[in-house]
Amino acid sequence: MNRQNSIREFERAQKSIPGGVNSPVRAYKSVGMPPVVIDHAKGARIFDIDGNEYIDFVSSWGPLILGHARDEIVEAIKKAAEKGTSFGAPTKIETQMAERIVEMIPSVESVRMVNSGTEATMSALRLARAFTGRDLVLKFEGNYHGHADSFLINAGSGAMTFGVPNSPGVTAATAKNTLVAPYNDLQAVEELFAQTGDQIAAVIVEPVAGNMGLVLPQKGFLEGLRQVTQKYGALLIFDEVITGFRLSAGGAQKLFGITPDLTTLGKIIGGGLPVGAYGGRKDIMEKLAPAGPVYQAGTLSGNPLAMAAGLTALNILNDHPEIYDQLEKKAIRLAEGFRKNITETQTQAVVNQIGSMLTLFFTKEKQVTSFHEAAASDTEKFAAYFRIALESGIYMAPSQFECSFVSDAHTEDDIDQTIRANRAALEKMQSGT
Ligand SMILES: *Cc1c(COP(=O)(O)O)cnc(C)c1O
Repeated sequence: MNRQNSIREFERAQKSIPGGVNSPVRAYKSVGMPPVVIDHAKGARIFDIDGNEYIDFVSSWGPLILGHARDEIVEAIKKAAEKGTSFGAPTKIETQMAERIVEMIPSVESVRMVNSGTEATMSALRLARAFTGRDLVLKFEGNYHGHADSFLINAGSGAMTFGVPNSPGVTAATAKNTLVAPYNDLQAVEELFAQTGDQIAAVIVEPVAGNMGLVLPQKGFLEGLRQVTQKYGALLIFDEVITGFRLSAGGAQKLFGITPDLTTLGKIIGGGLPVGAYGGRKDIMEKLAPAGPVYQAGTLSGNPLAMAAGLTALNILNDHPEIYDQLEKKAIRLAEGFRKNITETQTQAVVNQIGSMLTLFFTKEKQVTSFHEAAASDTEKFAAYFRIALESGIYMAPSQFECSFVSDAHTEDDIDQTIRANRAALEKMQSGT
């Protein structure tokens, strides 16, 4: 494939944008090539500025569960734009949106709209601290909750309870208030609670981890988090920015039957426009200004274009529950196709899949159930695989530690074409050519 225009455009971008991108992973650093610059997309197909066409499994990193430029959503945005793009005043559609979310997500009784997943998690954390009168938050290794300081924290060394900053600019003082435990390690969580449980405001968790590649919660893990937080009077925050409206119409919490105190949402909720939200128990949410004393605001929060796109997406998902079965069927077909290819080409790899989420890990491990196991993956191998797949028209996330997302727009033919491309790529890698 010729990608001269992409190469030229990325060089140009680097002169006026740090690293040439507005979000780091887009720069393709971990796959050793310049990024593909996108021109447009429709349904499951994405097109670059050189005119190359790809089957898209990035789905804008999760939001586009209904595919690109879905007609109903485009129409809704156009209609909203004609009425004015922002008022900074209450509108009817905000309330319709809130009502729709409250109806769909079991634990959400009241909800506040924001503009990104990052805003949702940082605001939920402030609220949890205010509600409990405690300072500490417990998060998990390999979980991602956006780029607020409190979450850019790595586990400290063995004997250290507290985390350490994983980005310059995050202060040691902030890191001191974030505890980090291994994902799927309930015992570690219980030990941290035994030490400092009376100071922990909240446990925040991706109920299904999607930011270290796909890692599923082990049996009893989420239940255990619910129990231990309840026991110590800490709040349980489900970060459903990816899983909300994806793993079921009611998110991961509905799928697993667990009721968190607060839930953070993003991605799908905006229908492709910048939206986030956080919600939960009414007694907690009522602490937010102006109902209560906890400050949080946003000039463009509840923006009419974003609400129009998001509400249209949620209405489609709500009215067509069969979409979830279809998504899962396609993802299972993809996962099984990959697994068969892996076995037959004697590749060392593991495929994790749930609902419409999937990751192929290049690893010697027999399974990937933890950050440690995910991190053991062969990222060089992944990079080689990524480049071959891209050449054959398959557009995946340019990192081993991301998910592929199947959308409503993918056809069975798209899935089968992808399985064949996977087969050819694995064969090529095994033969070392
Ligand atoms: C993407 C993501 C976020 C951050 O959302 P942004 O809209 O990128 O700020 C937070 N939590 C999870 C689980 C995510 O996947």
